[in-house]
Amino acid sequence: MAFDYDLFVIGGGSGGVRAARVAAQGGAKVALAEEDRYGGTCVIRGCVPKKLMVFASEYHAAMADAQSYGWTVHAGGFDWDAFKTKLHTELDRLEGVYRGILRNNGVESFDARARLVDPHTVELADGTRKSARHILIATGGRPVKPDLPGAEHAITSNDIFHLETLPKSILIIGGGYIACEFACILNGLGVQVTQFYRGAQILRGFDGEARGLVSDEMIQSGIDLHLGTNIEAMEPAEDGYRVTATNGTEAMYQQVMFATGRAPNTEDLGLEAAGVATGRKGEIVVDEYSQTGVPSVYAIGDVTDRVNLTPVAIREGMAFVETVFNGNPTPVDHDLIPTAIFTQPEMGTVGLSEEAARDQEPIDVYCTSFKPMQTAFAGRPDRVLMKLVVSRETRKVLGCHIVAPGAGEMIQLAGIAVKMGATKEDFDRTVAVHPTMSEELVTMKTPI
Ligand code: NDP
Repeated sequence: MAFDYDLFVIGGGSGGVRAARVAAQGGAKVALAEEDRYGGTCVIRGCVPKKLMVFASEYHAAMADAQSYGWTVHAGGFDWDAFKTKLHTELDRLEGVYRGILRNNGVESFDARARLVDPHTVELADGTRKSARHILIATGGRPVKPDLPGAEHAITSNDIFHLETLPKSILIIGGGYIACEFACILNGLGVQVTQFYRGAQILRGFDGEARGLVSDEMIQSGIDLHLGTNIEAMEPAEDGYRVTATNGTEAMYQQVMFATGRAPNTEDLGLEAAGVATGRKGEIVVDEYSQTGVPSVYAIGDVTDRVNLTPVAIREGMAFVETVFNGNPTPVDHDLIPTAIFTQPEMGTVGLSEEAARDQEPIDVYCTSFKPMQTAFAGRPDRVLMKLVVSRETRKVLGCHIVAPGAGEMIQLAGIAVKMGATKEDFDRTVAVHPTMSEELVTMKTPI
């Protein structure tokens, strides 16, 4: 049977665009449909604008530090409009780059929503149908709000980059990556930030000591963090919202933001018609090759709810092309993925937390927490943390956890060593780079 395309990709985010490009470069006839903006969550409403906001938010403290270092500088104030205009110009540029990648590699793109009709047919919003030997679903995810009175008035991370003005005060609900990152960003930009997290400590699942330090530092920097607290209801009031918390207290905030998790974009995709199975959260169920139960249909990225990170979606896209178009079945390696949470200070982590490692086998823990030179000189009380979790039997480093400015950059490199199976003694054999914060990773002698 002749198909219109070898591959039809639904979704023009990081994973979809990468798979489309690499397949097309290998000679496949490829089309891609995107209903919104090219670049997806990462480029348009996630990692990229978030990181630019992190940079913007760090200048306030940097300015104070500069004074401590002898500079005569004064922070005049943050101009949200000026920043926002520049930010969106940059996002427009990046979207253009993504469109260009597709165009320059001969991928036909459709600015339209697409859904499956059957295992080899896609229907575009205008009713046009296209057939393909393989279909790749890379539709990502979206933020979700809990179902509670007044929740419709709250914003999510999708809205934050489009605010008309920065609020004077904000309540952020959640204790995951997004809640913590935006609490720090907005605090740095001068917004009065309150954060509610329903559990005992933010950043559930990460190393206990590391998340404890992030939480301490967030509080120290002025974030009003309430643990064991959730929102019960909210209602519009003059100049903001009146929020009732689960502990019965009421308070006013100019803005409320939910960062309470994300759901896979699988609604109205025609999955049922095509026979593609979904799981409990609505995620597309795939095997290690990203193949669904329907042999011609594959799915990658957040829509599969495996490890929801941009570089992982990209890997999954490349492995898909390798498997399907290059005759080289390639499973995606989801083990020992380094990741960073861009709080202030950042947390960089790879491998097992102390708690998870202890459940697995006998371990030694090497950990140090100290005031780093740069901010200590400026009189700031900030602390950093360097931690290695080591197998007592094999001496392999099972986990590395860093809380420090620049931890994201550090963990990328430490991640290589951990992924290679480095032992504590391999770390010790490496000469320290002095004076740095990360030199502590190779100088910790005694387990705690
Ligand atoms: P997460 O799943 O990480 O966190 C959701 C948070 O909301 C948790 O603290 C959760 O609490 C809480 N929560 C869930 N439901 C409710 C509810 N009904 N009421 C109150 N609190 C609730 O989601 P995020 O939205 O922060 O991020 C989504 C994913 O995006 C991340 O897991 C990550 O994979 C990715 N991401 C990565 C980034 C990076 O690499 N730097 C940055 C941003 C996002 P509990 O812990 O109790 O379940």
